[in-house]
Amino acid sequence: LVAVREVQKHFGDHHVLKDVDLDVARGEVVVIVGPSGSGKSTLCRCLNRLETITSGTITIDGVPLPSEGRGLADLRAEVGMVFQSFNLFAHRTVLDNVALAPHIVSKVPLKKAREEGLALLDRVGIADKADRFPGELSGGQQQRAAIARALAMKPKLMLFDEPTSALDPEMVSEVLDVITSLAEEGMTMVVVTHEMGFARRAADRVIFMDDGRIVEDTTPERFFTHAESDRARAFLSKIL
Ligand code: ATP
Ligand code: MG
Repeated sequence: LVAVREVQKHFGDHHVLKDVDLDVARGEVVVIVGPSGSGKSTLCRCLNRLETITSGTITIDGVPLPSEGRGLADLRAEVGMVFQSFNLFAHRTVLDNVALAPHIVSKVPLKKAREEGLALLDRVGIADKADRFPGELSGGQQQRAAIARALAMKPKLMLFDEPTSALDPEMVSEVLDVITSLAEEGMTMVVVTHEMGFARRAADRVIFMDDGRIVEDTTPERFFTHAESDRARAFLSKIL
């Protein structure tokens, strides 16, 4: 589904992604781990064109990422993204947050968009919050609303960038459970996370990044028991 080839990314003279190659197959769950500043968020942001790459290619379904205009809007619909901060519209109800993008961007009639939105809120376990405002929800509930909002565009690929790191500990599992059930339903996803239990359980592959490079690309079993690089072992010894 996704093919990343020899991607370089510079911010000025800072070389942030170095020769990155990555394939994500349909239905695959790829977890990206690595130290702060290693380029995990930048790679995610390049995948939905929130950042431009300096060189190399990224294709989704064989189609190179568009650079502007209509193609970019279509790409954003195909690739859903959930961030650490939930980025919900504070002055819209939870249901409006979920239903407005399909209505406005994809021209789904409002009634249908709201029905589908309600079904998505039910799927993430917060249908009872549909008419509340984001500020009235807990962090875990807001993040589940953000996931429902991304799903409303019927994406082919979901990107999660540290979706639980802004949450109080007791809310982490409710969000990880939603992501895990999406994975079980076959959603293709790239998840940046420090939740190693989740990586072990849910990942088909673990990518370890360090200093802008993919240093390991392996199964969770191998990564957690036989990491090949010293850098990955040092990272694991700090985090586990
Ligand atoms: P963290 O675990 O802290 O989220 P990360 O692996 O996601 O880290 P990135 O956010 O991708 O790391 O950042 C990689 C490098 O790129 C860092 O050195 C960062 O300072 C730099 N960087 C990121 N965004 C920008 C930007 N907009 N302008 C300049 N430099 C940036
Ligand atoms: Mg990051």
